[in-house]
Amino acid sequence: MSVRVCVAGAAGRMGMESVKALAQADGIEVVAAVDRVRIGETAYPGAPALSADLGAGLADATVLLDFTHPEVAADNASLALSRGVAVVIGTSGVSRDQLDRLRVQAEEAQTPVLVVPNFAIGAVLMMQFAALAAKWMPSAEVIEMHHDQKLDAPSGTATRTAEIIASSRNQAPAVKEGTIMKVACARGGMVESVPVHSVRLPGLVAHQMILFGGPGETLTIRHDSLDRTSFMPGVVLAVRRVWELEGLRIGLDTVM
Ligand code: NAD
Repeated sequence: MSVRVCVAGAAGRMGMESVKALAQADGIEVVAAVDRVRIGETAYPGAPALSADLGAGLADATVLLDFTHPEVAADNASLALSRGVAVVIGTSGVSRDQLDRLRVQAEEAQTPVLVVPNFAIGAVLMMQFAALAAKWMPSAEVIEMHHDQKLDAPSGTATRTAEIIASSRNQAPAVKEGTIMKVACARGGMVESVPVHSVRLPGLVAHQMILFGGPGETLTIRHDSLDRTSFMPGVVLAVRRVWELEGLRIGLDTVM
């Protein structure tokens, strides 16, 4: 049986690319394309026309893929769960409270939710390598760099990377107290005691470096998404395998 997908945010940059990739994937059918703009147009030749009605879009779907906005993604997911439709959330910036509520709803509905901070396979590997490095080099900082249209900072990937580093450390990092801060936030923002720095510039897509420092040496792990096609193998994989999961899970690695 084919996987029947409703794509929310289908007129957006990630939504359009996803409709195209999913429409070309074996065993996957895009049954609805939902957005609040360009209603009646098609995101990709042969794809369903864009509609503003998510409820109608979910009627024939087995999976909702959401690439909308942090203010609506959790409500979209909740509506899908109430209809027994599994959810893949690609939208970044969904809060912990919202995820906690979705976790409960997913368990009650026995319908899975997969939240994917980054669909790029290389980015998932970067996080796994970071976990290994943090065991031996606990002093680390994250620098994430994105296009200037990105709404949130730091990125979901940077936050997740910092959490992974913090939970993988065997020793506390060396911290120099008493730095005189001449400019607010010059040392970045702290995520679980890992400094995270966000760069926003036109021309960038999605890039991240993790810098580890130890006595007399540094290690840099870097990942670059050079265009949005980098996310598509992960999008197809997540949509194909989400129904193998239970409850709410975070990260593409749960289906890799
Ligand atoms: P975009 O602004 O190009 O697209 C968002 C689309 O959602 C727009 O077409 C907008 O009209 C639509 N939308 C917003 N509110 C809506 C609503 N209430 N109902 C229906 N449609 C609505 O943004 P984008 O670059 O495609 O990114 C979308 C999200 O995906 C962002 O949160 C971004 O950070 C995230 N993202 C995630 C990954 C990942 O790997 N997880 C990669 C890139 C981007």
